[in-house]
Amino acid sequence: MTVAHGAPVRWAGLLDGLIDAVCLVEPQRQEIVAANAACASLFGLPAAGLLGRRFTEFATTPADLAVWEEAAEAGDAWAPGDSRDHDSWLVDCDGRTRPVAVRVTRLPAGAGDGLWLVALHDRGAEAELRQQLESRVAELQATMESTADGLLVIDLGGRLLHFNRRFAALWRLPADLLEQRDDEAVRAWLARSVSDPSGWASMHQRWDAAAMIETRDLVQLHAGTLLEIVSRPLLSRGAPIGRVLACRDLTEHQRSRAEIERLSHTDALTGLANRRHFAERMQHRLGNPLDGSGAAALLLVNLDRFRAVNESLGPEAADRALAEAARRLRRAVDDGDVMARLAGDEFAIGLREADARRAEACARRLLDALAPSFELDGRPFTLTCSIGIALAPTDGRDLESLLRHADAAVRRAKEAGRATYRFYQPRRNVELRDRLELDHAMRQGLPGGHFRVDVQPQFDLADGTLAGVEALARWRDPVLGEIGPARFIPVAEDSGFIVELGQWVLDRAVRHAAMWWRQGLRVPMSVNVSALQFRHPDFVDRVAGTLDAAGLPAAGLELELTESILVGEACEALARLKELDALGVRLALDDFGTGYSSLAVLKRFPISRLKIDRSFVASLPGADSDSAIVQAIVAMARALRMNVVAEGVETEAQRQYLQDIGCHVMQGYLKARPLSLDEFERRWAGGEWRTAAQAAVPRVARTGNGLKVPDRHAERAPVAAVLPLRPRRPVGRPRAQS
Ligand code: C2E
Ligand code: MG
Ligand code: MG
Repeated sequence: MTVAHGAPVRWAGLLDGLIDAVCLVEPQRQEIVAANAACASLFGLPAAGLLGRRFTEFATTPADLAVWEEAAEAGDAWAPGDSRDHDSWLVDCDGRTRPVAVRVTRLPAGAGDGLWLVALHDRGAEAELRQQLESRVAELQATMESTADGLLVIDLGGRLLHFNRRFAALWRLPADLLEQRDDEAVRAWLARSVSDPSGWASMHQRWDAAAMIETRDLVQLHAGTLLEIVSRPLLSRGAPIGRVLACRDLTEHQRSRAEIERLSHTDALTGLANRRHFAERMQHRLGNPLDGSGAAALLLVNLDRFRAVNESLGPEAADRALAEAARRLRRAVDDGDVMARLAGDEFAIGLREADARRAEACARRLLDALAPSFELDGRPFTLTCSIGIALAPTDGRDLESLLRHADAAVRRAKEAGRATYRFYQPRRNVELRDRLELDHAMRQGLPGGHFRVDVQPQFDLADGTLAGVEALARWRDPVLGEIGPARFIPVAEDSGFIVELGQWVLDRAVRHAAMWWRQGLRVPMSVNVSALQFRHPDFVDRVAGTLDAAGLPAAGLELELTESILVGEACEALARLKELDALGVRLALDDFGTGYSSLAVLKRFPISRLKIDRSFVASLPGADSDSAIVQAIVAMARALRMNVVAEGVETEAQRQYLQDIGCHVMQGYLKARPLSLDEFERRWAGGEWRTAAQAAVPRVARTGNGLKVPDRHAERAPVAAVLPLRPRRPVGRPRAQS
């Protein structure tokens, strides 16, 4: 403490004990008579330099001047002990100004010796701090506003301290609420906006109960927005003073998650469930396998010869066909049942609590769904499917075994000619043999002479005369015994052996037909042709060559084709059919009705005969839909000038019914089973059946080889009554039968 000469030294100890800058001033001249070290450093002078200087040299604001004016008067208004406070600016000796708070106190009489005590508080640091604080707040505010989250800061009592614009936007706070900043009204608005008020309340309760916890909640707003609210305690010196709520809009996120979830469950092409999802749902449906509660049916649907569609139409068009097939199949399945695309052209359907009847009904609906012809880029075509059915728990209690068994059933449906369904049946003995073994045995069997051709006669329904014969392949394996075509033909088709086998049958059948033709038995020989065989590039030439070699007029041959040849490469098929037609060969569509070709489509092809599949004939006559179908087929075929053959006629009632509705020809056990060539010849020679030409000319004569033929036929060939004879290609001279 530096004290001016003569100044009261007793103040010295007191002033030096103070942190703040303090000095004693003589009020008349405002002369500083004593100052402590803090004061000296504030003024920027050594303490001694201050003494004798006027205080108003350093602080010259109007407030300062006013205070000292009043002090100089020292009237009654300023009682001893009283202070006057004001803010001022101090100019230190280096000319720097700084804000100060000044308190001038009139010292009590007797103690003050007429001096005034001036305490100065440097507010420079404070101002700097405030400025820093303000810029922090500005930064903070900018941060709050620039975040994508809606932020709300509340204190422990729930008072709203701050929220950003994003918060207001997420919660759709109305403008008037924003202006009023009425906490109560905003809180009420928030509570009203959530769709689960009790969840909202419990969230607040959790915060109240534990101020330090962090919470994360999903809150759905009435407006449709889904908010994730993360709340963290707001701390001051480690103690909670409130809470910061960050609200994030998850609506889009949730939507895309749902989309990802959906995509991971569905097949992109068809929109059906995928294999994984199907497995999950089926596992759920099959229930507890041990308590047997999971009665269900699994239908495995495989599109027939879809590979051919794929190859001929190209992958893009095939995809469209596949999607259309999937749409149709889905419509045939109840909403509550699961349907999935397992792979390529394979679909699966899981029926809950289904028995065989329900499964069968569903299978029929699926077949029907594909029945109307498909069209791609203006090209109509037919798609059919084969369906295998496995029942739980009989055929398996878990998905894997059901799928395996349904798959075996699909194969049986394919073997049965496709476009149908089969239930799973534990395999029979012969089926135990691997298909490869069967194929191998067939390839040995053909050169080994184990194959033969049987023929089954066909009869005119109007007059009962013999109208044709169908050649049917037969195979007796020395080890396996007699194996039916329904078993070996699909294997041969799959392996490609059918091309060789089919040619062998054609060759043999045509040679016999040529021999009979020469002997006067002039009815067409029908030969079955597989799609693979038909598509062989040399097929037409082979047919022509076979006819040539045997010396059979083309009109003596009928090719029975299946609808599958019209699928896919319809243009190519049409070209080939036209070549065969030009050759004079008659073309028939076999097993009509099972493949669902529409008659309108068939009109484009040079097909002159339809063979109604025997599955339709079996239930005739009757009031059910099969009768209606058969009747419609016959009527439409007649309208299109096609000849109609009914297959599998076993009863007189069926024959009568077919005759009544105008069907042309019948084939079936009622009149004749398939017979060996010898047996057929023997019975024909025995006069059991007569052709239309023979019926017209009842007189008969014996031929050299013992066959009984009408004598006129030995010379000329009046076959026009039976079929139009249209040899368009020179055929070889009749040769003697070898
Ligand atoms: P598909 O061409 O429809 O032949 C008619 C089938 O019906 C023959 O069966 C015949 O025996 C049978 N059938 C005829 N009448 C009756 C009847 O009244 N009742 C019953 N229940 N069945 C009757 P099959 O001989 O077993 O031949 C089955 C199929 O195998 C044929 O059906 C045909 O698609 C195929 N197939 C036979 N031979 C050949 C061949 O050489 N080449 C080709 N590609 N397929 C052949
Ligand atoms: Mg046939
Ligand atoms: Mg048939």
